[in-house]
Amino acid sequence: MAVSKESFRKTVLVLGGGVGGVACANRLRRRLDRRHRVILVNKDPDFSFAASYLWVMSGKRQPTQITRPLKALERRGIEVVIGNIETLDPSNRTVVVDGRQTSADHLVVSLGAEYAADTIPGLQEAGETFAILDGAQRLNSKIKAVTKGRILVVTAAPLYRCPAAPYEAALLIDAMLRNNHVRENVDIVLHSAEPAPMGVAGANVSAAVTSMLSDRKIDYRPSQQITSAQSGRVNFAAGESEAFDLLVYMPPIRPPSVISASSLASPSGWINADRNTLATQFPGVYAIGDNTHLPLSIGKPLPRAGVFAHAQALVVADNIAATIRHQTATASFDGHGGCFIETGFGKAGYGSGDFYGEPSPTVSIHQPSRRRHLGKVMFEYNVIRRWL
Ligand SMILES: Cc1cc2nc3c(=O)[nH]c(=O)nc-3n(C[C@H](O)[C@H](O)[C@H](O)COP(=O)(O)OP(=O)(O)OC[C@H]3O[C@@H](n4cnc5c(N)ncnc54)[C@H](O)[C@@H]3O)c2cc1C
Repeated sequence: MAVSKESFRKTVLVLGGGVGGVACANRLRRRLDRRHRVILVNKDPDFSFAASYLWVMSGKRQPTQITRPLKALERRGIEVVIGNIETLDPSNRTVVVDGRQTSADHLVVSLGAEYAADTIPGLQEAGETFAILDGAQRLNSKIKAVTKGRILVVTAAPLYRCPAAPYEAALLIDAMLRNNHVRENVDIVLHSAEPAPMGVAGANVSAAVTSMLSDRKIDYRPSQQITSAQSGRVNFAAGESEAFDLLVYMPPIRPPSVISASSLASPSGWINADRNTLATQFPGVYAIGDNTHLPLSIGKPLPRAGVFAHAQALVVADNIAATIRHQTATASFDGHGGCFIETGFGKAGYGSGDFYGEPSPTVSIHQPSRRRHLGKVMFEYNVIRRWL
């Protein structure tokens, strides 16, 4: 019996054009010959690199330097669909994008996390966040205009993207004010909903970050859950409230609504996946990056960080490509990775190690240095220049 060439043609659908999706689609394209289709779907036409938003806030980057059109991937042979994924059916590996249904042989879900700032009354109106590109840009102007007063930085819930980001934000705001010679007139207070900085990385990392803050005279107040905000004042769960001249926040997150509404969602709304292969319970369906919930030995999930989304993307792409080529899929994500902590003045610290360590993650902290800062620049280069 003759077998049609078409039966050898496979389609891989990558959902999400963020760090995980872009890295995965590129790697698949490199691993698979052109008869196989790689399709990437994203609602926004542009990719922007969130890990550089704090550099936009501090004036080290312009938005155009960290933004690229996703359609640029088409020159590499990746089909790019710009549209909203309305429904997702993992049993049939089918999605509906702006009313049009598409099916695939393999599905990679990398839809990130949604911001849930609306769950804290008044927060969006009273404050500004560096977690979106526009917000980071507005903060740059607002911080440059500060000459005196009180800046509050808050993490609005214990769960948010990138555990280092709010701590970096406080340190970079401090550096901006020092460069502007107004720091002595401004109090910087950092309230975190969590009990210690980057707690998932262990007590040594928390202690090191706490001392970075105190060295810069940033008043750090842990375990303070903000409950509401209004113009010039925030309120905390313990009943206290505090005045501010500028409120800067890291928003809470929730799973993307298209995932919550699908059978892919676990009871928490996030996607459960094998922590080494990122395979879900549905054959041919993988989940990577911020939309997954990967529990660690200490009960907390793997932090939502681009370095992990990126590493997981390569593992999944290699295994899908091996499967299509009838080879054994051997790639495995081992939980190793690290988070940079930008401290300003061209330096960064780095917390890195084995987040899958037993009985607890084994993560060590490297003190701020020029070398670590350049490490983050390399990460930016690898994603923006290499993949786009
Ligand atoms: C301020 C800040 C600083 C950070 N710094 C660092 C850092 O230094 N190092 C680090 O490792 N990580 C950092 N991160 C975290 C990092 O950005 C994320 O972990 C990473 O982007 C996750 O990649 P992802 O592919 O899972 O999701 P994302 O990059 O968020 O991509 C998800 C994509 O899916 C799209 N999407 C969602 N729903 C739909 C839908 N229904 N239809 C179509 N498209 C949809 C979104 O538009 C988005 O493009 C930082 C994050 C922030 C906010």
